[in-house]
Amino acid sequence: QVVVVGSANADLVLDIDHRPAPGETVIGSDVVTTPGGKGANQAVAAGKVGGAVAFVGCVGDDDHGALLRDSLSSAGVDLTDLRTVDAPTGTATIMVTPDGENSIIVSPGANRHVTPAMLEETRSSWGAAPVVVLQLEIPVESVAVVATGARGRVVVNAAPAARLGSAVLAAADPLVVNESEAAFLLEDAGAAAGPADDTGATARALLRLGPRSVVLTLGAAGAVVAETRRADADRPSDDVRVGDEVPPADDAAEVVRVPALRVEAVDTTGAGDSFVGALAVELAAGATLERAVRLATRVAAVAVTRRGAQTSFPTLEELERAATQ
Ligand code: ADP
Repeated sequence: QVVVVGSANADLVLDIDHRPAPGETVIGSDVVTTPGGKGANQAVAAGKVGGAVAFVGCVGDDDHGALLRDSLSSAGVDLTDLRTVDAPTGTATIMVTPDGENSIIVSPGANRHVTPAMLEETRSSWGAAPVVVLQLEIPVESVAVVATGARGRVVVNAAPAARLGSAVLAAADPLVVNESEAAFLLEDAGAAAGPADDTGATARALLRLGPRSVVLTLGAAGAVVAETRRADADRPSDDVRVGDEVPPADDAAEVVRVPALRVEAVDTTGAGDSFVGALAVELAAGATLERAVRLATRVAAVAVTRRGAQTSFPTLEELERAATQ
């Protein structure tokens, strides 16, 4: 089973002619409200491709909370530990200008209630799960509680970019980042990223920050997987101890490039989230990291051909249909 611990937001999308200057009022289009938030997106993506998945998070007692519950449960996600708290459901107000650029204001709201205390209370659902998925739209100390307390494999999607403690990094297997998140983490650590066009070197540099494995996503160029060669790779996951690895030498790293599918991208919102959700399902099914990344790139390729985030994620059936087209 996959357990996603993280954020749920209502995405409030509106088109504007130009960004308002200080003191200015601009008139926008009607607001389109869709279910989002990285955690909820990843759980929905995992559920749609047929994974047994549970979501641990918080929403408010409001219409946005109901919208998220609906979307998650339609995808078959177990909501036993989705709490309704005394705060508005988180929102992301997304303003899109005619050039396609967006400006986003996130109001965390109920996501702030995903506290270490709440996670202690829900430990029975994530503590022993084979795969736990984390992102960074909940308090950092909460991410640390789960990353260090989970006995299963921990997928850490370091998005949006933020500093990670060494204990969280050491637990990540894999650490999943896009290119800008990778640049942030490397700069924050004072590490050299390697030449801009050498994504393999960037993945290796990320591996030296301490995660057990790395997946660097590259948009239309696919992804790079970097893993430390381990003599003990077969050891059962419940025997894993964090921090008992020797830091990898470069020649001990295995780097594999996985190309993206060539598609007509319409809307890349949630591409990374669909990728992470699908990756987690494959890992829980016992796939190698490279195989899991191959499925994840197929799922994300379908997601970018359709509008929206959760609404764009394919079911297993749609994925098979896409593969035969
Ligand atoms: P994020 O959405 O987090 O910024 P990326 O842009 O790297 O992350 O996209 C995540 C994954 O989605 C990529 O690794 C790739 O598999 C897939 N993807 C993104 N954009 C495209 C595209 N234009 N064509 C095909 N696949 C894509």
